Amino acid sequence: MRKVFHFDSPREKYHCDAAIVWCFDNRFELGFRKFLKRIGVVNCDPIKVAGGAKCLASPERETEREFVLEQIRKSMRLHGTNRVILMLHTDCGAYGGLAAFGGDPRAEAEQLVREIALAAATLRTAIPGIRVEGYFVDFEGVWDAEVDGPGDGAA
Ligand SMILES: [Zn+2]
Repeated sequence: MRKVFHFDSPREKYHCDAAIVWCFDNRFELGFRKFLKRIGVVNCDPIKVAGGAKCLASPERETEREFVLEQIRKSMRLHGTNRVILMLHTDCGAYGGLAAFGGDPRAEAEQLVREIALAAATLRTAIPGIRVEGYFVDFEGVWDAEVDGPGDGAA
């Protein structure tokens, strides 16, 4: 092999502040990353899949839900993760975009917040005791879907 790039990477293992289940739609990458930093998530295990938390709430195939749950369990095992952040965003192709809601951002937000709640409930059933937060992201900011339950503790 021929070395094509040099960098120095930290070798020590890290404690993961949160596993993030989010969509790979790159329009929301920078803004959501800034938000994560704001809420104190420095070391995260990103689980980036099309649709994000949709894979837990209403997956196209059951295997998608299993895959995401297993990724979370691995994050817990490897990096001591005890907090999961669920993300959905506006105009997500996995939901058919904003067009699927008749172009009505409010109808979309209401539906997707229900989806986040469903994803949180699914996650809590599958992994009891896990701390869960859920956020809806649009082009102007991040909205708390308020799925934190008793036992999630103070953020
Ligand atoms: Zn998306």
